[in-house]
Amino acid sequence: MAINEGKEEAELFQAQAHLYKHVFNFIGSMCLKSALQLNIPDIIHSHGRPITLPELLSALQMDPAKSSYVYRLMRLLVHSGLFSTTKVPIGEGEEEGYDLTPSSRLLRKDNVPSLFPFVQAMFHPAIVHPSECLGDWLSSNEPTPFHTAHGMGFWDYLSQNEEFNRLFNQAMISDSSMMNLVIKDCRSVFEGFNSLVDVGGGKGAVSRIISTSLPNLQCTVLDLPHVVENLQDSRNLKFVGGDMFQSIPTADAILLKLVLHAYSDEDCVKVLRKCKEAIASKGKEGKVIIIDIVINEKKDEHDLKDAKLFFDVLMMTVVTGREREEKEWEKLFLEAGFSHYKITPIFGVRSLIEVYP
Ligand code: SAH
Repeated sequence: MAINEGKEEAELFQAQAHLYKHVFNFIGSMCLKSALQLNIPDIIHSHGRPITLPELLSALQMDPAKSSYVYRLMRLLVHSGLFSTTKVPIGEGEEEGYDLTPSSRLLRKDNVPSLFPFVQAMFHPAIVHPSECLGDWLSSNEPTPFHTAHGMGFWDYLSQNEEFNRLFNQAMISDSSMMNLVIKDCRSVFEGFNSLVDVGGGKGAVSRIISTSLPNLQCTVLDLPHVVENLQDSRNLKFVGGDMFQSIPTADAILLKLVLHAYSDEDCVKVLRKCKEAIASKGKEGKVIIIDIVINEKKDEHDLKDAKLFFDVLMMTVVTGREREEKEWEKLFLEAGFSHYKITPIFGVRSLIEVYP
């Protein structure tokens, strides 16, 4: 018998499985979406111990006839690591119960940090539909797949669509709630500064955390007028409506969290130049603090690399932005007139980048 007999066929079948896995990645995403819709993370948490399938059905107020459907949904989500199973004592014996994993613990609604609003917004048709238009967009002259899908750009769509605007802002607030975990380790980043402008700071989630933790720092959130309208100033936190491409208030330091990744290189250089002007009075001591993804293909482990590359294509899909490798960031900083920078990968998917004049 030839040594290679059957090898080629086996490889083709393996390739078929690999291909189908990628074709059906969206099924995994949609199962997660339905688990959120059904509130399963909160149900498991409120149950106080791993929940059996009949208990889950009863909590969902579902007809027991749906049992096998819920079982199959949960089997896939357990396989993906979004839930786990463990034995629970029931009467004399024991049964399998569903439990939360670190990932689904982040999906509880009333917990801090909760990524529920972020995940919910990403599953909104306003985001999902443009991703179906990538191919059409590439053969068109539209600026983004979002334009192909909705006939206008992302920021215009937000300003005209109250429901999605609310969901998007909630998503950003929820993403920023993760900052609570590390702010205590970041005090040195803000040391020596009296004032900070959080450019594109949204509803001020990060600035609220920073201004509470550092009461002597005067924080200003600059964002588009419709985002900051009706927001209440406090002792060391104020909100300013404006356009970062036109003018940025003067400060010792500037924060840009999840802003530059939404823009082209050309636009980033424009914003960074404005930031440099804004911190000019602090001389060499001034600083721009960026929290964004840095792609490091060689070092990032598999899940991290997946998440970063998905974010990159998301930025290509909804806006004219991109996720950048270190050398791409460096090019922007030098072009905008900064002299050096330091990258610290402390926020999981995102890094802290300190940029100096
Ligand atoms: N920094 C926040 C929000 C990031 S989303 C956080 O991490 O939670 C990007 C923000 O940039 C949005 O709030 C958006 O309204 C704001 N933005 C977009 N264009 C802007 C502009 N031209 N001037 C000021 N802010 C802008």
